[in-house]
Amino acid sequence: MIFDTEMPGHSPVEKVCFRGHEVYVKRDDLLEDWTSGENAFNGNKARKLHYYLSRDFPTTDQLVSYGSAQSNMLFSLSVLASIKGWKLDFYVDHIAKHLRDNPRGNYAAALGNGANIIEVGPLLKDLDAVNTEDYVKNHVLPTRENSLYIPEGGRNQQSELGLKKLASELIDWLEKSKVANPKLMLPSGTGTTAFYLQKHLPYEVLTCACVGDTEYLQKQFSGLDDNSECHPTILSLNAGDNGICKKYHFGKLYPEFLEIWQEVKEETGITFELLYDPLGWLCMLDYIDDLDEEAGLIYLHQGGCLGNDTMLQRYQRQRNSN
Ligand SMILES: *Cc1c(COP(=O)(O)O)cnc(C)c1O
Repeated sequence: MIFDTEMPGHSPVEKVCFRGHEVYVKRDDLLEDWTSGENAFNGNKARKLHYYLSRDFPTTDQLVSYGSAQSNMLFSLSVLASIKGWKLDFYVDHIAKHLRDNPRGNYAAALGNGANIIEVGPLLKDLDAVNTEDYVKNHVLPTRENSLYIPEGGRNQQSELGLKKLASELIDWLEKSKVANPKLMLPSGTGTTAFYLQKHLPYEVLTCACVGDTEYLQKQFSGLDDNSECHPTILSLNAGDNGICKKYHFGKLYPEFLEIWQEVKEETGITFELLYDPLGWLCMLDYIDDLDEEAGLIYLHQGGCLGNDTMLQRYQRQRNSN
């Protein structure tokens, strides 16, 4: 059942059932009309970049950013740059050889949009730069005049504008749907999305740390606002029979991630993203099992499915080599 589609620029909310639990899915992966055209981008990157999309920057002629060569942000920035007629210089530590030889997913799409993807890993040592961020700040930005700089993952205050709009859509939807005891769940990378949603929502935001551990994520929240009372709640997985909780490393392949992704896809008919969403669903399911009272869980689909292509290929290669 899909409703709330009548407002232009709003993403729909869909009610699904998974392992006997009702969950509402906010389909930000369907936010395509924001950036129309065949190269539309969606999800939380579209929300975070709304600020740049919706304003004029008369003196800007290029974007500068950095991150991973397979990231959803790289692709999203390449679309933004082509809409605006800007050049995009995107710095990465390295580009895996098989990806360079066989461009796919976000990387291929970004190249198709004219992105300059520049590998700096081999240069860092000679320049005394500790990492790509350091390189960009000290060796690139000082030489650029008319450029806009966007930090990795869009972790900046400009993200708040589009995320505030997302929060207001969720508030409008709640008023109509009258779901009791609502809670919003979304997996975090930098935590920027979860942080600004909690700032603008009158109910609890739940999240989990996909990049780094809970402490890292708490630090990200504190970097945006010291007051820990307004931070989202960080969930983690229940410990196993041995009392030990498995540690997941970002970007690595885990059979249980592929399994839950597949099961969610089959049972709900919705394709989620493969880097963040598997841990998001696993944490949410543990949380539901531990709940004493009914809650109206809303899971935020943050888009990014273009990257699934390279992830599935990696899972396939892993299977073939075993
Ligand atoms: C970028 C991204 C995230 C992480 O968002 P943060 O604001 O950095 O926490 C989560 N899910 C998907 C699909 C993403 O593309």
